[in-house]
Amino acid sequence: MLFLCLAGKYCAFLKTLMKERMRRVADGKVFVVGFGPGDEAHMTHRAKEALVESDSVIGYKTYMDLVKHLIQGKEIVRTGMTEEVSRAQEAVKQAQAGKKVSVISSGDAGLYGMAGLVYEVLMEQDWHEEEGIAVEIIPGISALNSCASLLGAPVMHDACTISLSDHLTPWNLIMKRVEAAAQADFVIALYNPKSGKRTRQIEETQRILLQHRDPNTPVGLVKSAYRQRQHIVMTDLENMLNYEIGMLTTVIIGNNSTFYYDGKMITPRGYQRKYTLGEEKQPLKPAQRLKREAEPWALHGGQSEDAAAAKPRLQSAVDTAEEALAAVTGESAETQQLVQTEFQQKAVFEFAVSPGVWNKKVNARQLASLAEIIGDQGEVSYTTSHYLQVSLETDNPTTITAKLEEDGWLVTPVGDVIHVKACDFCDGEKTGGIPYAKELQEKLGGLKVPKVLNIGFNGCGMACYGAVTDDIGIIYRKGAFDLFLGAKTTGRNAHTGQPVQEGLPPEKLVETMTAIVEEYQEKGMPNERFHKFFKRVQTIQGFAYQKMPEPVEVNNPCE
Ligand code: SAH
Repeated sequence: MLFLCLAGKYCAFLKTLMKERMRRVADGKVFVVGFGPGDEAHMTHRAKEALVESDSVIGYKTYMDLVKHLIQGKEIVRTGMTEEVSRAQEAVKQAQAGKKVSVISSGDAGLYGMAGLVYEVLMEQDWHEEEGIAVEIIPGISALNSCASLLGAPVMHDACTISLSDHLTPWNLIMKRVEAAAQADFVIALYNPKSGKRTRQIEETQRILLQHRDPNTPVGLVKSAYRQRQHIVMTDLENMLNYEIGMLTTVIIGNNSTFYYDGKMITPRGYQRKYTLGEEKQPLKPAQRLKREAEPWALHGGQSEDAAAAKPRLQSAVDTAEEALAAVTGESAETQQLVQTEFQQKAVFEFAVSPGVWNKKVNARQLASLAEIIGDQGEVSYTTSHYLQVSLETDNPTTITAKLEEDGWLVTPVGDVIHVKACDFCDGEKTGGIPYAKELQEKLGGLKVPKVLNIGFNGCGMACYGAVTDDIGIIYRKGAFDLFLGAKTTGRNAHTGQPVQEGLPPEKLVETMTAIVEEYQEKGMPNERFHKFFKRVQTIQGFAYQKMPEPVEVNNPCE
């Protein structure tokens, strides 16, 4: 009897305990608060509300100082930098005792902050949201955003954050991430770039980045954004280590198209591909802007919807025809190929033909073969770029190209590609430069570039084929090359290229030109002419842009 009575009392006691615990758990809450870069103006409203609602606030000493005016009268737990785990455990313990507690993180609590750790500590206790303490993660402005805003607009495009701290992450993995991000042309924000003891990580990172990005790539260093000792440096990949980088710095590395303008670091989003930003009236109307044809760079490759839909239908018709033919006649693969050709859609094929880079003479046989290929329907026009431009409807451009090449024509693409133009080397008498002109044509001729690029190559200092008025001018003189960059080739304010080097050794020519072209391909904006690009980036492969005299103001040049 006594036993039953005691057992009953004990059960009641346990029930009260459980109830009490449930009540406490129900009241208890952990706020994980990202308080932004540091000043109150950049803290969210909800972050401030959480601090006001909390009975206690837990955080790293330096951060507690930043918010001290907002947490007066609260119970405060300040711990050292490497005490994150004990901070999270303490917060959970206090919330389980029925308190409302804020754990604070700088920037955003979910990015190298306390949010994940609080959940991991809870997981260890088999916590579940339904019956456990409440948890609210309050987002904040991360260093990526705050530092970017102080630099200009460097994170306008795909970006990633990489922490260089190898205290918890293997360095090998960090290096892999740096390499992948560099290769994939991400804008990169480096967090925890350097500390008193960790000094080599940022050097290694710079070394990896330089393998994939230009040394002139803009780099912004922001220390203590929106805090008292805020300090901003705008530099480049090559020189970034010449400035102070520390625990409170975020390093933002631009992508291949990031540039500086008026002391701002800017990464273009790509609007210039469709819009003329300096004009009120846009060349493409709103409906046209979304047409597939206006987006040749997209997944659909700029092919119209009709053409895309027609292709599979055509292909299946071809397949059926081939199968039928093979079944009935047992015909050869070539015959089947012919059937296939019948079904293929004809497209306009445009290309350039010339007798060669330096050869200016054509013979009757070549003219006759060209005439035959052009036929009655094709068109040919003579251009300023030392070639004939041909346009004809065909379903077989490969055969046409092969035939013309067999007859001695040089066939190159047209559009926004590189044209190598050369003089005739005094009718082939001054042979010194010819092999280099040929090599340039082989290596660079026809390559896609943001805007058509003429490389003018002249065989002596007379430069009578006007190399200095081409986008890039090369003059062979005394066994070496003079280099001119950035002529404005058209308009009333046309000007010659800037002489950037005299006596470039022959063995350096192709390498230098390739590097210049690659830089233009990588950093040039679509439709940006080479002279504009040179002016914008100011330095190409170490060749510095010189300020040109003010151009003549020309309104309505055609009227
Ligand atoms: N949760 C934070 C990141 C903490 S990791 C956030 O979202 O921003 C610490 C690193 O963040 C520092 O080494 C520094 O690289 C960066 N950082 C944080 N606050 C910063 C500030 N105000 N200015 C510059 N960098 C900052």
